[in-house]
Parts: sequence; structure tokens; C-alpha cells
Amino acid sequence: SRSVVIVGRPNVGKSRLFNRLARKRISIVHDKPGITRDVVATRIADGDYTLQDTGGLGLKGGETPAQLIAASEKQVSFAIDTATLILFVVDGLEGLTALDTRIAAELRKGKKPVLLVVNKADFGEEKIDIAEAYRLGLGEPLFISAEHGRGETDLRTAIKNHLDASDTAEAVETQEDAPRPLCVCFIGRPNVGKSSLSNRLLRSDRLIVSDVPGTTRDAVTHDFQFRGRDKKLHPFRLIDTAGIKAATKLASPVEYFSRLRSLDSIKETDVVFVVLDAMEGVTQQDKAIAGEAIKEHKPIIVVVNKWDLVHKAFADGTTASTALRGFKNEREYREKYEKAVFEQLYFTPGAPLIFVSAMSGYEVSRMLNSAVKLHRVLDKKIPTARLNKLIVHLAERTPPPAVAGRRFRIYYATQTSNHPFRIKIFCNREGNLAENYRRYLEAGVINEFDLHGCPVYFDLVGKK
Ligand code: GDP
Repeated sequence: SRSVVIVGRPNVGKSRLFNRLARKRISIVHDKPGITRDVVATRIADGDYTLQDTGGLGLKGGETPAQLIAASEKQVSFAIDTATLILFVVDGLEGLTALDTRIAAELRKGKKPVLLVVNKADFGEEKIDIAEAYRLGLGEPLFISAEHGRGETDLRTAIKNHLDASDTAEAVETQEDAPRPLCVCFIGRPNVGKSSLSNRLLRSDRLIVSDVPGTTRDAVTHDFQFRGRDKKLHPFRLIDTAGIKAATKLASPVEYFSRLRSLDSIKETDVVFVVLDAMEGVTQQDKAIAGEAIKEHKPIIVVVNKWDLVHKAFADGTTASTALRGFKNEREYREKYEKAVFEQLYFTPGAPLIFVSAMSGYEVSRMLNSAVKLHRVLDKKIPTARLNKLIVHLAERTPPPAVAGRRFRIYYATQTSNHPFRIKIFCNREGNLAENYRRYLEAGVINEFDLHGCPVYFDLVGKK
């Protein structure tokens, strides 16, 4: 989606401008301490974009000039990384400073569209004239007063025009530039470490972009950037369901899931992390939760948390009184665990299983890399001709069970969507495929088109 990012040195009026464009005072969702809200974001519905103010990024108050430069560099590189359009705000009353010139130079290098906004042009007393503003090399300046509303309409129009222009430009580029964040959530029974994993992801070494306010009272979403194995920055959105934890103490897994589903945001989840406890093996409740997760049609990554405890128990020789009893070493336990998961829980073929520790951070980035990979798979287009051939072939090799004495015939198949993959099968009957036959076809399609870990659904279109 489209993102407009505000940059500029302190006190030029960035947050005033933010509030004016948002048409409200943004109240920041209260959250756990220790998470800095460096960047504030809000959705501008009538302009169809997300507005972000980088004002707090890299600032703690009382900065030296050198720290100010460092902070503004941070803001600018964040903007260049994430923005569709950058609003660069300068102070009309104060005039241009050396730092403004410096920021302008960085922005020119960034090659992202920039709209130069001269703020505090309240009563025509600004010290910056058109000629001087032009010298920043960022095109035509817009004179506004965030305080009094001067130039607001022109600014909205200019933002719209820039965004529309970049939509067209983006359409020709590859999917990779699409800034939509990858939405993830952790699910699992109480105490497996969901909150700890969330906190680990949101540690200060990763940039928290925003808490999107107003989603639901039960779930808070956190945006952050993750530099993947591919060295690229990947925007992530964590749907933190910690809020429903208390309620789930009483709830059964099914109730837990109906709560999850009722959260608007969960529908947007791209990849679900199902969390298990390394010291406890697969429990009955895990089975129920995993089963419900499967029904969500989302790719799943199985995360076995608290691996540090396993490691420590083997290192200290204290396995006797635990689930680790009888295992020679970590590796043997790991292999056994992995086998048990896939035997006892049905997951989409190729679903990744990762042993992690929220405590030590072990393999936490692998978890995110794995999500990036699955997410990429979901963008695949399955060529219809090959799909057809495959489905017909699979149906010949193992025919679907006859219905009411009639042979089940498949005529034609085509992909109707991804996220999740849906395939329409034109055949001589209506209804659903038997689950084990669905899995047979699913496994065939996954293998043929390399869709490991992503569920495939089939809709039957038939004669009555
Ligand atoms: P949740 O109910 O699934 O959100 O679980 P919590 O995140 O609240 O964790 C439950 C307990 O397990 C807490 O006491 C955590 O400190 C502990 N815990 C979570 N992750 C780890 C881990 O990776 N290693 C260890 N040793 N303890 C963990």
C-alpha cells in the first residue's frame, strides 16, 4: 500500500502537519515499556495511504549538532527505504539551515519522490522565497501553514497526484517493490512463549515503525523492518494477540480460535507461527490449536520454542526428570521431536519447523526468513495448461471415489487466487472433495509447482 513519510529537522512542524493531514490528534496506543515509538503512523482513508512521522527517530532530547545529523540521517534512510512519497518539511520562519541542505542532498540521492513543504508560511512572513527553495533541488515547493491550514487543499492534491503517478510507475515494476508488510502472528497454548517471541522480535535492534492504533482492543499490531538473508529490508507487521491471553485461560482451543478469527486483523495474517514448547512435546491442546490453524488456510511455520532449556539440560546432564529422559543428545531429541510433530499434527506438506529460543534469540531470524520465503511462494502464478494436465493426470492415477455410483470426472482446472492458493475444478459433481483426496491433490500440486508449506484449496464446480 501507499506510504507517505514526513522528514525534517526538529521543530519545523512535522507533527502539526501530521495531525492536520490526519484531521485529528493521534493518540498513541499505550504499550509495554521499552518499546520506543520512534515513528508514528496513521491511515489516511480518504487519500488511501499511510502517513508516517519520523520525528522521534534517533532523538532522545537535548541532542548535540552531531547527534542531530545522525538522527536526521536515520530518518531520511528510513523514509527512502519505506516511502512511496516523502514530505520534506522546512521552517519558513527560520529559513534554511545547513542541516536542511544536508537532508535535501540525501533525499536527492535516494531517488524517491519528494515533496518540499515550506511550513509556517502563516502571514507571508517566511524567509524562504521560491528561488531559495528551488535551490534545494527537489522541485517546486509548497508553502503551507500546518498551524492555520494555509495551503492544505493544495498539499492534499499534490500528495494525491504524486501517489497516483507512483501507482502507475509501480505497476510496471516488479512485485518486490510493493511495500505491503508481511503480517504474522503467534498462536499456541498459554506459556509456550508467544509473548516472549513477540517481545524478542520487537527488540530495539529492529526498527519499530508504528503501532497502528484503533485496530481492536484485543490485538495490537506492531510494524517493524527485518533485514533478511537476501540483505533486503522486509516490512513486517506483527499482530500481537497478547490481549486475548487472559481470556483464553478459560477458553478451549476452539473458543480461542473463534476469538482470534473475530479480530479483523487476523484475517490479514499472511503467515501463522504455531508455537510449541520444546520441553513438553506435542500435547492434546497443541493438536487442537494446530487443527484450527490449518482451517485458517494460512501457511504455517511450526516454531518449537525454549530450545535453550533443552540445550542446557543436555549440557548439564539434568535430563533425567524431564521429557528428555532417555535421549542421548540434543540432535536425537530434535529429530524425534520433528518426527512426532509431523506424525501427530497434520501440516501442509513442506511446512517449515524451526527450533528457536525467545530467551537467547536463537534462530529467531531464521523464523522471519522462513516467513519471507513462504510469502514469496504465495505470489506464484500457476500456469493453467500445466495445472490442467497435472490434475487430470493425478485423477487418472488415483481416481476420486465415485459418488452415488457415478464416476467422478474432472474436466478442467484453473487457479482462481493465491493467499491462499485456490483452484477451481470443473467436474461432474458439486460439493467438497473428501479430505484425504484433497490432500492427495494438494501434495501433487505442491510438488509440481514448488509451493512447499502453502496450503492449496479446491473448489468444485459441477453439474447438479
Ligand atoms: P505465552 O503465554 O505463550 O505468551 O508465554 P510467555 O511468553 O508469557 O512465556 C511463558 C513463560 O515461558 C515465561 O516465564 C517466559 O519467561 C518463559 N519463556 C518463554 N520463552 C522462553 C525461552 O525461549 N526460553 C526459556 N528458557 N523460557 C522461555
